[in-house]
Amino acid sequence: MSLLSVIVPCYNEEENVALFYAELIRNVSFLEEKNMELEILYIDDGSKDRTAEEVKKLREKDSRVHLLSFSRNFGKEAAMYAGLENAKGDYVVLMDADLQDPPALLPEMFSYMEQGCDSVATRRVSRKGEPPVRSFFARIFYRLMKKISKTEIMDGARDYRLMSRQMVDAILSMKEYNRFTKGIFGWVGFETKWIEYENVERARGETKWNFWKLFLYSLDGITAFSTVPLMLSSVLGLVFCLIAFLMILFIIVRKFLFGDPVSGWPSLVCIILMTSGVQFFCTGILGQYLAKMYMEVKHRPIYVVKEKV
Ligand code: UDP
Ligand code: MG
Repeated sequence: MSLLSVIVPCYNEEENVALFYAELIRNVSFLEEKNMELEILYIDDGSKDRTAEEVKKLREKDSRVHLLSFSRNFGKEAAMYAGLENAKGDYVVLMDADLQDPPALLPEMFSYMEQGCDSVATRRVSRKGEPPVRSFFARIFYRLMKKISKTEIMDGARDYRLMSRQMVDAILSMKEYNRFTKGIFGWVGFETKWIEYENVERARGETKWNFWKLFLYSLDGITAFSTVPLMLSSVLGLVFCLIAFLMILFIIVRKFLFGDPVSGWPSLVCIILMTSGVQFFCTGILGQYLAKMYMEVKHRPIYVVKEKV
């Protein structure tokens, strides 16, 4: 008998745990026809509310429900990794607890797996209900990533994805500390079928991501999957050398034609400010990569388990 593992990262989702379970069960009747089993892994990412208790309540009724609690909040990336590591399934699917990843898509996704795909991924074609500023910057991020990274990262891609065991093992073999799963999916390759759907708003509770958090996460994505920013300082250096060279020419020619009146103080200040700004910016980029490397070489565990049931 083959097994489907459903991984659900939860951070303060007490209201959604049972809702999600009910909605999932309603949509997985196709498993019986295929003679398959199910396991549901709730990863409690250090929730401060009653998320863990809610999961335990479900477990009393249904032994297919499992809970892994972290000792603190490690972030969704860590929760997804923990889920993949603990899933035993021949097929594994990652889903948000807030029902923004509709379980109703599962039967269709599964049918593509049977046709021989290694993975079925989902993307939102609309961003209805999301703040416009957020959508705007998200677009810019994906467009930038397309230019500066060799790894394919699809605009609007969700983490909602059904994968074969082979692909899960490939993802688990990437043990990096700074995880950007959307990039990792693309990096490992395999044949992926994309399913599109309209954005669904979260069932209960509030989003855990504010603008600043998303901004930092996008920087994680860039540093994890592109080294192009590191080249930026060399390019800017060259550009500034060229400008300096042209200016020297200009000054020499002017000196011979018109003499040398003492002026140009404001322009000098502008140039100094501008170049030192660029220098700081480039040092900052170096710092970003250095910081990531520093965290990486420490080899810290990606998550710490408090309880496993
Ligand atoms: N999540 C998590 N750890 C965190 C933040 C979020 O496990 O630190 C989970 C959260 O419980 C939800 C999923 O990740 O199941 C997506 O989070 P959310 O709905 O807040 O993000 P959004 O859908 O607004 O991008
Ligand atoms: Mg959500």
